Amino acid sequence: MSLIRLLPPTVANQIAAGEVVERPAAVVKELLENSLDAGATRVVIDFSRGGKAVIIIEDNGQGMTPEDAAMSLQRHATSKIRLASDLDRIATFGFRGEALPSIASVARFTLQTRPSSATSGWEIAVNAGRILHQREQGMAPGTRIEVANLFHPVPARLKFLKSDETEAAHIIRLVRLYAVSHPEVGFLLREEGREIFRSPGQVPLLERVRAIWGQQVAEEVTLMPLFESSGMRLSGLLGKPGVSRGTRQDLVTVVNGRPVDSRTMAFALTESYHTLIPKGRYPLAFAFLEIDPAWVDVNVHPAKREVRFRDESRVRGFIIESVLSVLRSKGGDGLPQSTVLSVPSIEIPVAPSMAASVPPVSPSPIVSPPTSPISPSSSTSPSAVRLGWKFLHRLRGDKALFETPTGLAILNISFAHQRVLYERILQQFSENKAASQPLLVSIHLELDPLPASVLKEKMEFLTMAGFSFEEYGRNFWRVVALPHWLKPEEALSFIRDLLGEMARREGDFGRPTLAHDALAKMAVQRAYRKGDSMSEVELLALVQALFRTTQPGTDPKGRRTYLEWTDADLDRRFG
Ligand code: ADP
Ligand code: MG
Repeated sequence: MSLIRLLPPTVANQIAAGEVVERPAAVVKELLENSLDAGATRVVIDFSRGGKAVIIIEDNGQGMTPEDAAMSLQRHATSKIRLASDLDRIATFGFRGEALPSIASVARFTLQTRPSSATSGWEIAVNAGRILHQREQGMAPGTRIEVANLFHPVPARLKFLKSDETEAAHIIRLVRLYAVSHPEVGFLLREEGREIFRSPGQVPLLERVRAIWGQQVAEEVTLMPLFESSGMRLSGLLGKPGVSRGTRQDLVTVVNGRPVDSRTMAFALTESYHTLIPKGRYPLAFAFLEIDPAWVDVNVHPAKREVRFRDESRVRGFIIESVLSVLRSKGGDGLPQSTVLSVPSIEIPVAPSMAASVPPVSPSPIVSPPTSPISPSSSTSPSAVRLGWKFLHRLRGDKALFETPTGLAILNISFAHQRVLYERILQQFSENKAASQPLLVSIHLELDPLPASVLKEKMEFLTMAGFSFEEYGRNFWRVVALPHWLKPEEALSFIRDLLGEMARREGDFGRPTLAHDALAKMAVQRAYRKGDSMSEVELLALVQALFRTTQPGTDPKGRRTYLEWTDADLDRRFG
């Protein structure tokens, strides 16, 4: 007796759905690709509650006859391939014929469709994979699909969804990518009936990006002319020298009209900017590559679209060469490093108000803490004398040589500075009174949906950290106050980075102590400054402050803040 049975189709579809549609944005992706495959020149996408309540996609594509409509809900029904060998030259997005039946098995699903040759349309309504009704339906040519109560038949899946705002952010990012990749198609995206963006078909790329990403992003990019070389063409928009991001979010890569993930392209773009943006950061780019499809491998995992090139190094070389020639022509070569790098932030010695508000943390055993705020008037200020370090000489590379009561020490100025600042910021957190400074002129902040959702979710934390925001429209904010340690001119890029980090390290930022630690670490990196301009007095004040921290010996990343040689060490070496 055999125990092997065929799964009922509904169950098989629900299992397939687990692969094809793991979240609302994946449903939008499948439906959007079908509309584009159907030759639509206009697509309207509506959703609410992050796509959990409803997703509606309406197109003016070729539509389906009632027979085809019924077929489209059968597993492995596709109009796009006939033979397995067709898989090698897929020109369309979908090809598995799994999306519609999968989605219909995990939602309340209504398909309305009409080919232009027919006089009326056809509607099929399905609930959790079971057909409710089929009937004639008056409509314009094209297709309209409504997906309501996504995943309600599979509650276990519902649990894995993130907040409405996060899911909405994923949908918006996805539709943006498709909209920017399809200049011939007009897109309209709405959430709860409110327009998020509308991109008219047939407008220049920069206008398109302005419509889709907003004014701020449009101002940060510059046009890249068309480059051509041995069968490859590259065009698009490039971030202006100095503009950078903490994540790859705004590194948009399109291959042969498809938004894709391409390590090679992302790497080549980042590489091209390496002297123009700080290490570890990413440029902003909309890069459109056209290349013989035979040179591209598409990983057809349903959830993502990652491409590899047969000759990675050729593609990489072509991109770097093209991008560099644009950047050079923009005067990017001799440019000083970006604004992010030139960020003198905190002054040492500290402002009296701040020193007063932050009592010294547990004193290091070597020195007794000073009893008054630091106000050195000469290199032999009382506190420096008590510590016993005497300034001898400024060394190259941001270091300074001191004579200590027991020998010699070399101080790494920026690492020491980072340790001091880090503890000062943490101290403020632990006392729940991060010093906040109101801004005379508020700063305009326009955010992508994902960072905007993080901002909303973490508002309490950010307020506690000394930030103050006012929302004045979807994804538009006014920054009205900043933590004491953040300079207004650095606020925009810092906030963007912080939100990016928070999105990337969701778990960490969910726990207060880790969140504080992460924020303080980011803050001190910002504050890193070359000690070139520091006077002897300031250097002594820095040493003083360093030895009041809990771990004077290392910076927040664990790097040594100073190296010390005792007289005995030195004698031994001469010995
Ligand atoms: P695939 O896209 O892999 O073929 P789908 O399940 O996504 O599989 O779609 C099944 C079929 O339904 C498609 O091959 C296509 O013929 C038809 N179809 C789906 N969406 C549309 C649409 N918006 N307009 C016209 N035909 C569509
Ligand atoms: Mg499809």
